Amino acid sequence: MFGLIGHLTSLEHAQRVAMDLGYPEYADQGLDFWCSAPPQIVDTIKVTSITGQQIEGKYIESCFLPEMLANHWGKTAVRKVLNSMALAQKSNIQITALGGFSSIIFEEFNLHESKQVRNVELEFDRFTTGNTHTAYIICRQVEQMSAQLGLDLSQATVAVCGATGDIGSAVCRWLDAKSDVAELLLIARNQERLQALQAELGRGKIMELATALPHADIIVWVASMPKGVEILPEQLKSPCLLIDGGYPKNLANKLQHPGVYVVNGGIVEHSLDIEWKIMEIVNMDVPERQLFACFAEGMLLEFEGLHTNFSWGRNQISVVKMEQIGEISVKHGFRPLLAASSG
Ligand code: NDP
Repeated sequence: MFGLIGHLTSLEHAQRVAMDLGYPEYADQGLDFWCSAPPQIVDTIKVTSITGQQIEGKYIESCFLPEMLANHWGKTAVRKVLNSMALAQKSNIQITALGGFSSIIFEEFNLHESKQVRNVELEFDRFTTGNTHTAYIICRQVEQMSAQLGLDLSQATVAVCGATGDIGSAVCRWLDAKSDVAELLLIARNQERLQALQAELGRGKIMELATALPHADIIVWVASMPKGVEILPEQLKSPCLLIDGGYPKNLANKLQHPGVYVVNGGIVEHSLDIEWKIMEIVNMDVPERQLFACFAEGMLLEFEGLHTNFSWGRNQISVVKMEQIGEISVKHGFRPLLAASSG
């Protein structure tokens, strides 16, 4: 049995979908109410691999909302993640993916120091961040979409916003080692971490977001932003491929501009329908087949009987592990989402 821990993108989103999740009493409640709401198992899932193998899983709604990261809500965010993990473990789920902000909160607040959740002692090898598969899928989206658009990677400048993060640093490692990109622009706020990444890669230009964007043929957004940023499409190159891997999305505005191609980053499509309802709630275009790559990692580990924290800790993702999860992903019938929207 696999598990997925997820959350909605905002209070407004949560209020809108409370009815669909079967919780009408949550629909007109404010943030205070959501802060006190316990995690719930809201969906059961059946996935069939193209090998014919079938697995079952459960979706745990953590009731965390990105607004809880503001001001004094950090403790609430921590409680949401730990309680969801305890619920997964108590439900005898062998491998659970920590979706969206749950893995970021885990790392940011050092939750490996908080093993005891009431009467449950968390066993961390039952959990994975899913970030290795997410990073792999984003890199394949860069490679395959750039080929579709006629962008030659060996001539291209790729800007990675969130470069020092767990997913961003893995994307940089792969683009350096496997895709032979001409230039890497590294964007984040903490300069020390940027310099450490630059030293590790032995390349890459550290740049401010606003300065970098007009130079980029390809932009990979993997920053952990509770709210998206507004960008002016006129400032971008044409063509420009924009891969938005954030959850919530890193781009606040829907970019509809000629020559700017926006792809939902870190999303996979399965070859067969999945029995669940949760992806409709997070607005996937084809909810029975499309899902977050981190969730797919939980499924892949279950298919392979790899009940272990395959992706764990920060900035530990190697190209070898990305290749390994990539092979399993293909074997079971997952592929990167390759649809781009443009103006
Ligand atoms: P991390 O917290 O490890 O890294 C976040 C990165 O973003 C850091 O480099 C951070 O550096 C940078 N950052 C944060 N805020 C800003 C800002 N305002 N401007 C520029 N850079 C910023 O996160 P992850 O790598 O784990 O996750 C990245 C994103 O991917 C998240 O949105 C997450 O929800 C999403 N995600 C998507 C998945 C999928 O399946 N599609 C799966 C898992 C995660 P600094 O703080 O120095 O600025």
